[in-house]
Amino acid sequence: MEAKPILLIVDDAPSNIQLLAGLFKHRYQIKIATGGQRCLELAQADPAPDLILLDVQMPDMDGYEVCRCLKADDSTRQIPVIFVTGKDQAEDEELGLTLGAVDYITKPYSTAIVEARIATHIKLKQQSDELRRLALRDQLTGLYNRHFLIDVAAKRISQAHRHKRSLCLIMVDIDHFKAVNDEHGHAVGDAVLRDVGEIFLKEARKEDIVARFGGEEFVFLLDTCDRDAGIKKSERVRQTLEAKKVQGLAITASLGLALLTHGEDFTRLLSRADYALYKAKSNGRNRVEVAD
Ligand code: GH3
Ligand code: MG
Ligand code: MG
Repeated sequence: MEAKPILLIVDDAPSNIQLLAGLFKHRYQIKIATGGQRCLELAQADPAPDLILLDVQMPDMDGYEVCRCLKADDSTRQIPVIFVTGKDQAEDEELGLTLGAVDYITKPYSTAIVEARIATHIKLKQQSDELRRLALRDQLTGLYNRHFLIDVAAKRISQAHRHKRSLCLIMVDIDHFKAVNDEHGHAVGDAVLRDVGEIFLKEARKEDIVARFGGEEFVFLLDTCDRDAGIKKSERVRQTLEAKKVQGLAITASLGLALLTHGEDFTRLLSRADYALYKAKSNGRNRVEVAD
């Protein structure tokens, strides 16, 4: 069964929370916060809420301010916010909507209308989550796709430059993959790619990005990772793959590692990793080469 969507109810009055929670607990998983700070924490937590019902008047931080913070943060911006409030002046509603709330409900409210509005916005949120997932993921392996990698790499690289952090990129290419297709068929080739993707994902830390770059090429983007750690990681990935049977076959890969250099952009970093990979291939495959 699919998990129930998560509804975060934020109100400084416990009786208001109880009322709303009582109405919706059968359809949604309920989380509650009695203040703005707690709301922001829960919005950033994993799993994130699918919708936030937000009171306006609260002592520590008012709802408008909470909404502003939610919309200013990349990790919470996409969560729909509905204000539920006694403040019923047109300018209050206008402010709430201007701040990015999807709806503004004034008290006293009709339960049926609140229910319908919540349901609509949760449905829209689920649809946009699904579209985002499709746009960022490779269909075959479920890993991030090239498009996402390019996008996120540009951000991570500029952060690495700004904070003087090391960053590594590993380009991985399966050895003699064409032979897998030729000898066992395209379906087995696909299954091998899926399994290899899973193996690579297990080798990654939470903050690493693993992407299918295309065909039988994969990329690891390793944040806060120096040359030695990059070499260790590359070797471990290579050895783990070599040690496993994938779809009953012995599969190996060649890896090219490049460490981000001063002022370098993604294209240049990638092309150095690609050149190291080319050397790994010409030096016999199933090996790691490091870019100069
Ligand atoms: P090398 O060791 O030099 O990398 O040799 P290779 O055979 O792995 O490299 P080559 O680039 O010659 O062939 C890659 C093959 O990968 C050719 C292509 O048909 C296959 N391929 C690319 N994408 C897919 C896919 O999604 N599914 C399957 N089954 N095969 C794919
Ligand atoms: Mg290739
Ligand atoms: Mg290959």
